[in-house]
Amino acid sequence: MKYDYDYIIIGSGFGGSVSALRLSEKGYKVLVVEKGKWFKAEDFPKTNWNLKKWLWMPTLRFFGIMKLSIFRHVAVISGTGVGGGSLVYANTLPVPKKAFYTSGSWAKLENWEEELRPFYVKALKMLGAAPNPQLFDADKALKKMAREMGREAHFEHPHVAIYFGKEGETVKDPYFKGEGPERIGCNFCGGCMTGCRYNSKNTLDKNYLWLAQKRGAEILAENEVLDVKPLPSGGYELKLKSSTSLFRKTRKLNSKGVIFSGGVLGTVKLLLKLKQKSLPKLSDKVGDEIRTNNETLISVSTANKDSDLSKGIAIGSLLHTDDDSHLEVVRYSRGSDFWKLLHLPMAIGKTPLHRFLNVFGQLISSPVSWFKTYFINGWSRSTAVLLFMQSVDSTIRLNRNLFGWLSTGLSSGTKPTSDIPASKDLTAKYSKVINGKATSFVLESLAGIPTTAHILGGAVMGKNISEGVINSRNEVFGYQNMFVIDGSMISANPGVNPSLSITAIAERAMTFIPEKAEVSKKVFLKHSSKNV
Ligand SMILES: Cc1cc2nc3c(=O)[nH]c(=O)nc-3n(C[C@H](O)[C@H](O)[C@H](O)COP(=O)(O)OP(=O)(O)OC[C@H]3O[C@@H](n4cnc5c(N)ncnc54)[C@H](O)[C@@H]3O)c2cc1C
Ligand code: SF4
Repeated sequence: MKYDYDYIIIGSGFGGSVSALRLSEKGYKVLVVEKGKWFKAEDFPKTNWNLKKWLWMPTLRFFGIMKLSIFRHVAVISGTGVGGGSLVYANTLPVPKKAFYTSGSWAKLENWEEELRPFYVKALKMLGAAPNPQLFDADKALKKMAREMGREAHFEHPHVAIYFGKEGETVKDPYFKGEGPERIGCNFCGGCMTGCRYNSKNTLDKNYLWLAQKRGAEILAENEVLDVKPLPSGGYELKLKSSTSLFRKTRKLNSKGVIFSGGVLGTVKLLLKLKQKSLPKLSDKVGDEIRTNNETLISVSTANKDSDLSKGIAIGSLLHTDDDSHLEVVRYSRGSDFWKLLHLPMAIGKTPLHRFLNVFGQLISSPVSWFKTYFINGWSRSTAVLLFMQSVDSTIRLNRNLFGWLSTGLSSGTKPTSDIPASKDLTAKYSKVINGKATSFVLESLAGIPTTAHILGGAVMGKNISEGVINSRNEVFGYQNMFVIDGSMISANPGVNPSLSITAIAERAMTFIPEKAEVSKKVFLKHSSKNV
């Protein structure tokens, strides 16, 4: 049978982009289908008040780069667009702590630490990782706190996917022997999470996808894959629908192989739906073992008028607070103050009532200083977001409800919580250093629902179909030529920001797919031996 493509890749984030490049290099005809838009530097919003360009909310016709999804047990922020989460992410690329390799459903399948080592090196190179060269006010405050805690040796300048050439200077591609796009030296404006308007951030459209296109891969933006059906003669038929036009046209394409790379919320949503009809042989584990980094996101706003916490890169510094946990200082650029509308004083209390009373008590006990926090100094200028992460494990599961929407439920492990004493203790220490007040996302403050930018799992690796959705080579149990390569394959808590690990595991998965010429030769030999 003649197929439209050898491989169709659903989603253009980290897993999808690596797959697109490596498959094109191997001679395959590749299509990447992406639900979000294709952005140029000047398309990104100047601040996050431009909700239409920042947020992805198609029902309101907002087609930006960040999606906020609220569930019973967790609120998730994720990326959308050609380049997936790389458009909105904070560029940080840490290698996980040891526990990652030896826990979760994948633990016994390989010696992962050894197995992945060369792929981490490759991923860091491809993403253009470099240590942050400059600390600004919010980072210096973290360094001071580290010193006061006696942990200055554990303070780090993180490796980030940013081009740090001469500020504002355009240069020919410095990463891929001139084959990549021009780059401009970072100006430390802090705007990485609203999209870099200066061509300094190494998003996937500037490395993996760029090179994949040069090798023939096609990218179809603004289209969502709704169905994947096996064809009687092998291969799959995919149903696509426009995700942005008012008259949402559908079309069908077929392909010999399929790679699910829609990120956890895209891939798991699709797999749960397909299991009900088109792909019934998928493992019952689809949707199970969803993890976060057990993180908290707490904002601290300083009362010091001369500080500018918005200056720097999105994550400019990092402190390992103990063997299992670390803290990163995150920022938005000056003027990106939208989050203040969704933040309340950080609450202490076990029940929503206790939390509400605690928030109310804080507001009425010092109304003037809270007024100043919200309305006088400029939120992003005066606010550092403390991102605390742990390698301690917790799990939930994603289900599909009667309306076809995703919902969360409990899994075999404990659920993630926003109530982490170590994080509150570190927040108090940082607040003291900068003379600040702590706030958190309204759901975290009132309902104790944690927020995560690092949703993982749901199509985890296992020894067999009863233990996982995919094997250790990312092949889907029950189907041929079908793979899951994105955050859903992550089968343990990395304890750190996950994009580098997704990239490294994707690089490894691609090494098991042979060159197209090799496959064609084998098919030819099989047929000729039959004819003889
Ligand atoms: C604000 C923010 C900051 C972050 N900072 C960091 C950081 O500093 N370091 C780090 O490591 N991680 C960070 N992350 C997390 C990181 O972005 C994700 O872990 C990563 O992008 C996940 O990669 P992925 O391969 O799973 O797919 P994604 O990058 O999530 O991409 C999936 C893509 O698939 C598309 N898609 C989904 N379903 C379909 C469908 N049915 N049809 C077509 N297309 C579809 C989506 O639109 C999306 O573009 C951050 C995330 C956010 C939101
Ligand atoms: S700090 Fe500004 S210039 Fe530098 S990568 Fe981020 S958005 Fe781009």
